[in-house]
Amino acid sequence: MPHSKSVNRRIILSSRPVGVPTIDSFMLENFSVPAPSDGQVLLRTLYLSLDPYMRGRMSDVSSYAEPVAIGEVMVGGTVSRVEVSRHEDYHSGDLVLGYSGWQDYAISDGTNLTKLDDQAALHPSLALGVLGMPGFTAYMGLLDIGRPKAGETIVVAAASGAVGSMVGQIAKILKGCRVVGIAGGASKCQFVVEVLGFDACINRHSDDFPQQLAIACPKGIDVYFESVGGAVFEAVLPLLNVHARIPLCGQIAHYNDTGLPQGPDRLALLTRTILTKRIKMQGFIIYDDYGHRYGEFYQQMSAWLSEGRIKYREDIVDGLENAPEAFIGMLEGKNFGKLIIRIA
Ligand code: NDP
Repeated sequence: MPHSKSVNRRIILSSRPVGVPTIDSFMLENFSVPAPSDGQVLLRTLYLSLDPYMRGRMSDVSSYAEPVAIGEVMVGGTVSRVEVSRHEDYHSGDLVLGYSGWQDYAISDGTNLTKLDDQAALHPSLALGVLGMPGFTAYMGLLDIGRPKAGETIVVAAASGAVGSMVGQIAKILKGCRVVGIAGGASKCQFVVEVLGFDACINRHSDDFPQQLAIACPKGIDVYFESVGGAVFEAVLPLLNVHARIPLCGQIAHYNDTGLPQGPDRLALLTRTILTKRIKMQGFIIYDDYGHRYGEFYQQMSAWLSEGRIKYREDIVDGLENAPEAFIGMLEGKNFGKLIIRIA
């Protein structure tokens, strides 16, 4: 929806969801576009990244990051254009990666802003996906924790998504592993095999999903890139090989949980598997643990991209006002590829 250039629309957290969020948790507000002071820039948001971690920020529970306060703008990574600059390092027209959140305009003093280089500026939304946080997460989690070796079998959850789609491709490029994806639906699975080049992809909604997964992994699983939990993890557990590795990246199936899953025995099954099969499972938070290695990742991923060795898919939704619905849809698997809101 076009809007007046003097109005800054922003989406705030209006109430904390219990369980699955609804659009009532968000509110769109109109404000005047702020003016930058000396040492500041005015940023116009072009693209807003929607990511599963935002569900955690909506709840007031102790975690690795502070929650968004009620009435505050929802957090989010953005690509913006410098509209007005009163900062010596930036010029009007520069494209920057930053954290403006769910709004049309933001003021910044340059903290946490990164100028896009010429390659990234050609396709700016990639800075939020394959060249940004999700790609970096896949790269570090797989290589530093998963440590795949040639000939091994890697299983990747949410395989058509922003992180998962990269994990499998990197394992193929660097180690030629057997890569099996798991995704929600036949068309996602077709994309994962035919476009991304995974060896197989199993639809997690199939009635015989655990059996199909076992057939696709005849030599068991050496690395399981875990980002969903729930029934998917349960199907993976019995297939894990001795000395398997599990980069524990996320648990999206549980982000809307209001309590612990039923039955303490489930936890015992997990810990028993970890013990008897001597599995290494390590959680990580990408920028906290690996921020210092972003440069290495960026160089490698840009080279693969320009050589055409990495494929990606973006799910671009137009209009800031559509961000809440798109975000809620992502938590149900409605996105197909890296979910991005195009704002301007
Ligand atoms: P995606 O683009 O993969 O989108 C989320 C996907 O999760 C959905 O499309 C859906 O895929 C899948 N999903 C949703 N609900 C369930 C469910 N109940 N069971 C199984 N799968 C489900 O998101 P990202 O690639 O951005 O993120 C993937 C994961 O990585 C998330 O858990 C996220 O929190 C985590 N992450 C962690 C980081 C870290 O630093 N540790 C950094 C970045 C991401 P489908 O329907 O195809 O199964």
